[in-house]
Amino acid sequence: MTFKILRFEPQRDEHPRFQLYSHEPRPQDTVLEALKDIRDQQDPSLSFRYSCREAVCGSCGMVVNGEIVLACRKQTAAIASDEIVIEPLPNLHLLKDLYVDMTPFWDAYERIEPYLQAEGDVPEKGHRVEEEKMERVFQYITCILCACCYASCPAASRDDRYVGPAALAKLHRFITDPRDKRGWESLKKMDDPTGAWGCDTVFRCNQVCPKEVQPADGIEGVRRTLVARRIKNIVRREK
Ligand code: SF4
Repeated sequence: MTFKILRFEPQRDEHPRFQLYSHEPRPQDTVLEALKDIRDQQDPSLSFRYSCREAVCGSCGMVVNGEIVLACRKQTAAIASDEIVIEPLPNLHLLKDLYVDMTPFWDAYERIEPYLQAEGDVPEKGHRVEEEKMERVFQYITCILCACCYASCPAASRDDRYVGPAALAKLHRFITDPRDKRGWESLKKMDDPTGAWGCDTVFRCNQVCPKEVQPADGIEGVRRTLVARRIKNIVRREK
């Protein structure tokens, strides 16, 4: 098989370029295993990010034959071509080869205050929550912060101030959690085009998410919450 891999060495290359490698993966190999073999057997300078190798750490997002995937989940045998083209995630600054700068993704994530904001002291046995209420939250808990949705997002590609699908889905996770009592001061930061209103609602994030989080649904949830809170604020002021 031919692996056509995007290479970029900032100290040497003015522009990214493709390099071809001939490699025969084992039948059970994922794209990540093939990349590791190419690096170990042919080219130790090849850079890419990975850690757990089983879709838990969210490190190995990349583009394989035009599809945004986790390399550790993409089987080489499932690719109906003798050529595998591998590129870094779009919408993030390229540092080296398949290695991108995740800083804007993490900065956006930080903006939504991604932690539980419960009221009062934590009870001795913790907050008890009914299981059926937590079921609405579980889908969003499974996010592994791989940034595949962010890379696929046309709004993030247009405007790097937009927080993106993963951050908004996580915000919805906390809003939906009955223990979270975050106030308007925290929520209103997402009440503009760099937050929940920046989404184009084209659902690419739902299509690419390897954990079936469906971030676009979370964004809709945040929008509904913002509208309800705004109405509540108006009613309060008029009383
Ligand atoms: Fe990755 Fe899905 Fe989380 Fe986006 S929502 S960061 S695609 S796991």
